[in-house]
Amino acid sequence: MSITPDPAAHSRATGVMRLPSTGGLTDRFDRSLRDLRISVTDRCNFRCVYCMPRSVFGRDYAFLDREELLSFEEIERIARVAAAHGVRKLRLTGGEPLLRRGIEDLIARLAALRTPEGERLEIALTTNGSALTLKAQALKDAGLDRLTVSIDSLDDELFQRMNDVRFPVARVLDGIDAAHAAGLGPIKLNMVVKRGLNDGEIEGMAARFKGTPYVLRFIEYMDVGTSNGWSLDEVVPSAEIVERLGALFPLEPVGAAVPGETAQRWRYTDGSGEIGVISSVTNTFCGTCNRARISTEGKLFTCLFATEGHDLRALLRGGADDEELATAMASIWGARDDRYSEVRASLTPELREARQRIEMSYIGG
Ligand code: SAM
Ligand code: SF4
Ligand code: SF4
Repeated sequence: MSITPDPAAHSRATGVMRLPSTGGLTDRFDRSLRDLRISVTDRCNFRCVYCMPRSVFGRDYAFLDREELLSFEEIERIARVAAAHGVRKLRLTGGEPLLRRGIEDLIARLAALRTPEGERLEIALTTNGSALTLKAQALKDAGLDRLTVSIDSLDDELFQRMNDVRFPVARVLDGIDAAHAAGLGPIKLNMVVKRGLNDGEIEGMAARFKGTPYVLRFIEYMDVGTSNGWSLDEVVPSAEIVERLGALFPLEPVGAAVPGETAQRWRYTDGSGEIGVISSVTNTFCGTCNRARISTEGKLFTCLFATEGHDLRALLRGGADDEELATAMASIWGARDDRYSEVRASLTPELREARQRIEMSYIGG
């Protein structure tokens, strides 16, 4: 593998942020690395009961200090080396990514990166939508390609109970419309479904967004982290959702648009759009999982359920050059054998609980 001396300086001088290909990576199950999710903050202005419950993320919770976070330069460098290794899509997440000051500057830096073939990377962001009315235009101008907004209910009382900070659903809906008006699209809407909490909202959410430019996706509630007290009884299987909705609005399956796509897609037979279901629990997709995650403080995780990450920040701050960073990433991905969702069913609740799992707000969804 050869990399030009000081490629960052060269790329800046030429305006093209591009490294020569270091070759695509494959893991022990022959899965490529294509998608990198980057958590830009572990903080959030919501306290969603299934993600950052107040009982754990209360006033005394120790969030990371500013200097512990990866800087924009560090994120850009990791992304650039990842692109040389075959990554084609970056997703910014958190915590709430719009809380990270200057997020649009980071997006602009990432939008300037190029694959070894000279193509742009696709830049996506997942947000709770609370700051979208303010930020949508700046995100679009910076070069954001895709947006996902989380919205778990249309019932204001329930929405506020779920975010646990009294944030009204109307402001999220306004944010979604502002994003659309700014030209951000395609916009996807994520609804995590938890039985006994918001499963009564499934039909109403589908009806509300049917015939709009937005694609609603229902996500099975997962056992991420250890703070949400997950139980299998609280998961509403995707098959049940498709059956319930199909009884109201006839649906037909749509093939996957890209390999490794997490959502199974269904379209309304009357032509009024489509929905997706993400069956992380009942119909797992580890076999095609091409995603890696960078935590807020720069650890590389090869699975959402990994028990520990690999410290890239230590390498960066220890003076490693791009070649050393690329070699480290290659050896981490080459050793990857994660497939937690496939083995989940065979774990007893005790074994599952005994695993040290990382919180979603830290590793990024
Ligand atoms: N704050 C942003 C947001 O809410 O969109 C981005 C980070 S959030 C961790 C990313 C996604 O993970 C959200 O769509 C959220 O609903 C989802 N999520 C969080 N905890 C989850 C869980 N236990 N099961 C399934 N999805 C979860
Ligand atoms: Fe915050 Fe997103 Fe987690 Fe809700 S799901 S607490 S908005 S990080
Ligand atoms: Fe990928 Fe891990 Fe999720 Fe399986 S459990 S799909 S390997 S992140």
